[in-house]
Amino acid sequence: MARRKIVAGNWKMNKTPSEAVALVEELKPLVVSDDVDVVFCVPAIDIIPVAEAVKGTNIEVGAENMYFEEKGAYTGEISPAMLVDAGVKYVVLGHSERREYFAETNETVNKKVLKAFEHGITPIMCCGESLEQREQGVTMDFIRQQVKVGLQNVTADQAKTMVIAYEPIWAIGTGKTATTEQAQEVCAGIRACIAEVYDDATAEAIRIQYGGSVNAATAPELFAQADIDGGLVGGAALKPDFGKIVNYK
Ligand code: PEP
Repeated sequence: MARRKIVAGNWKMNKTPSEAVALVEELKPLVVSDDVDVVFCVPAIDIIPVAEAVKGTNIEVGAENMYFEEKGAYTGEISPAMLVDAGVKYVVLGHSERREYFAETNETVNKKVLKAFEHGITPIMCCGESLEQREQGVTMDFIRQQVKVGLQNVTADQAKTMVIAYEPIWAIGTGKTATTEQAQEVCAGIRACIAEVYDDATAEAIRIQYGGSVNAATAPELFAQADIDGGLVGGAALKPDFGKIVNYK
């Protein structure tokens, strides 16, 4: 069975609540699609107004992070139950910016992935190499480790429903999109890794996005690749271009 494409916007630390609602109103008519899942992953404070603004549309709301404990003395953190109650269906976990600036590791990402599943939130688990790693020829070793540790104790049935975003760090926010061949090669490698860890059926079902300076011009060729099931989009998710990326065909 063909995998359904999924295009998610990662708004990062952009848009106040009122600006967020205005952006949703602008993008709503542009992202209508019958065959692509559309997700807006927004800052925590924007989740409630955005969830209200997308009611009755094809847009789902995602968070950009989540803590792995249920509740308690974790000042500043957001729990999975809080996200669920606010209407969140997806959560981006292990984005390279969180790994770099907030010391997230494969182990903490794994705890968050498990906790998201416990609460019925679909993880969008990010992985990707630095430029140095690519130049040293260790891209696939590094990513396989990120994926294997990130998925520890995740069942095959859970893995089938999740999303992995391959985001080469050197392509994020730089305007340098990976070539179609580079992106397809790594996404195919991730799928092979899933087949090894689980089985072919799980590898066939899991959705793998490419992310890194995706725009309306590059999306069609990227999303046409056999192992690329859509995109995680940063900068272009804040512009009308996002509608063109969703409707890439
Ligand atoms: C991202 O933040 O996940 C991302 C891919 O950003 P950009 O599209 O701006 O490179």
